[in-house]
Amino acid sequence: MTDAPLHAAPDSPYRRLPKVELHCHVEGTARPSTVAELAAKHGIPLGVETPEDLYSYANLPDFLAAFGTVCSAFVDLDDFHRMAYEATEDAALAGIRYREMFISPGFHLDRGVRFDTVWDGIVAGLREAEEDHGVRTRLILDVDKPKGLGPALAILEVARNLDRDLLLGIGGDSNEIGVDHEQFAPLVREAHNLGFKTCFHCGEEGPAENIATMVAAGVDRIDHGTRLLDLPELVARVVDEQIPLTSCPTSNVELEVAPTLEAHPFAAQLEAGALVTLNSDDPAFFRFDLADEFERVATANGFDFETMVAIRDNAIEAAWLDETDKAALRAELSV
Ligand SMILES: [Zn+2]
Repeated sequence: MTDAPLHAAPDSPYRRLPKVELHCHVEGTARPSTVAELAAKHGIPLGVETPEDLYSYANLPDFLAAFGTVCSAFVDLDDFHRMAYEATEDAALAGIRYREMFISPGFHLDRGVRFDTVWDGIVAGLREAEEDHGVRTRLILDVDKPKGLGPALAILEVARNLDRDLLLGIGGDSNEIGVDHEQFAPLVREAHNLGFKTCFHCGEEGPAENIATMVAAGVDRIDHGTRLLDLPELVARVVDEQIPLTSCPTSNVELEVAPTLEAHPFAAQLEAGALVTLNSDDPAFFRFDLADEFERVATANGFDFETMVAIRDNAIEAAWLDETDKAALRAELSV
């Protein structure tokens, strides 16, 4: 993995470009200094000398272990408030104006933290940060795929009573290898019945067949979808139906899903006509942000600024907003 922070210059055109992000985990935005401070507050050992050492891993399972350790520092409502507030403050610095952000409640419920503590804290933090920084955030509740359908449906049951102005959809994340994705078809169906949008992490460390399975289940967006091009018939359907992909190239390189940014299939997916978007996934873990991602992907692929604006516009198209709100966002973000 990279040794140094990747931040684009403050005056970079990609930092100034107002952006939309559709694939970012709130827990993956936790600043190392905040994690260290909260771990000390609660007397939780992190098992590392400096908090930055937490953000070190070779692959997805390794990364998820670090993700769990970072989560362990967040215990009470104030902690989650701070997590969401700082996520939004950092989003503003990256030039993000609208974001649909994941919460992964499984990592908190497993530790005995109440769902209300997580939700109420995050909502309060987002509201305060929206006032202060002008970044609008909507939420997606992610189920922990390896736990299976039962716990996923339990999360959906909780979701049905939450504020629909804030909670737009249900997603699925965590390990992919060895997880039977077909089992989640009833979750997608039931979520749609309740009026939620759906998305799933797939084709990241696992094969393109997992993307095919979730497309067949009817998901509204594919998170990552890095392996899409392995199945030509699937490419045709994803392009025809303009099913969006929330691609995270730097995350894929850092977790050895792709060897380099230059070899990442993002450009080929774009060339094939897919509605691909660019996202940071877990910016604190990868020590960068969405402005850096735009700059790095532009450089790696030789894309000009207009191409990057078109990629930004894909995210407006792929956002879970109605046509009126999308048109308003397009007008607000036009440069
Ligand atoms: Zn992700």
